[in-house]
Amino acid sequence: MAITIKNAREINAMREAGRVVALVHSRIEPALAPGVTTADLDEIARDTIRAAGATSSFLGHQGFPGYICASVNDEIVHGIPGKRVLRDGDIISVDVGAIVDGFHGDSAWTYPVGHISDEAARLLRETEASLYAGIAAARAGARLGAIGHAVEQYGGALGFGIVRGYGGHGIGRQMWEEPHIPNHGNPNRGVLLRSGMTLAIEPMLNIGGEETQVLEDEWTVVTADGSLSAHFEHTVAITEGEPEILTQRLVAVVQ
Ligand code: MG
Ligand code: MG
Repeated sequence: MAITIKNAREINAMREAGRVVALVHSRIEPALAPGVTTADLDEIARDTIRAAGATSSFLGHQGFPGYICASVNDEIVHGIPGKRVLRDGDIISVDVGAIVDGFHGDSAWTYPVGHISDEAARLLRETEASLYAGIAAARAGARLGAIGHAVEQYGGALGFGIVRGYGGHGIGRQMWEEPHIPNHGNPNRGVLLRSGMTLAIEPMLNIGGEETQVLEDEWTVVTADGSLSAHFEHTVAITEGEPEILTQRLVAVVQ
C-alpha cells in the first residue's frame, strides 16, 4: 500500500481523533497510583473514548482485548490491561488509539507511579526528548530516514538501548499504514516526506540492551535483559513548515 497524503478534511478528522487520544492520557495520568490495576486504566480509556463518540483503535485489532496497551517496567509495548496492580516505583507505558470519522490517532506515554528511581526518571525524560528529536526531523523535503536517524543519534549518545524490532508507522484510515518508521536510519535514505503525510513516531528506549522477547500471551514485548523500558509516541502531520502534533495534550483540561 502506498503512503497516503491527507487532504484538509482528513487532517481535521485526525486532529479530532488525536484530541480524544490526548484526553484519554489526561484522564489516566492523575489516576495513576500504587494499588490501581491496569484494568482500572483501561476502563478510564473505554469511558473517555465512548463519551467522546469515538471508537478504540486497539480493541479487537488483530484480536487485542483492551482499549489501551499497558506495559509496566521491563515491558516495552503491547501489554494487555488486566489484574496487575501498580506499585510505588513502577513505570507504566500507556498506549492509546482512537478513531473519529474513520481516522485514527495514536499516542503512547510512559508515566511514573509514585516515587521512581533517578535512573528511571532519566529514562523517561530522555525517551520523551528522543521523540521530540524525531518529530523535529519530520519535515517536508527530508527523507524518512532522517526521523530514525535523529532518534538514534539522540538516544544512542545517552547509552540507552534503542529497540529496533518495533517502530513507528504511517497512520490514517488504518492505524498501521506505510511506511514503517524505524528508530534508527540513514538521513539520506527512505521516501521523501511530503506535506499531508501523517506519521506515528514512537521511540522505545531501554536502560539495558536493545534485545526483546515476546511473552507467552503472544502480545507483551519485554526487554530480554529485564531492564526498564520507556515508550513515547505522537501522531504528527507533515506540513510545509513545523510538523503538527495531532495528539498534543492540552495544558489544562476542563473535567
Ligand atoms: Mg501507539
Ligand atoms: Mg503507533
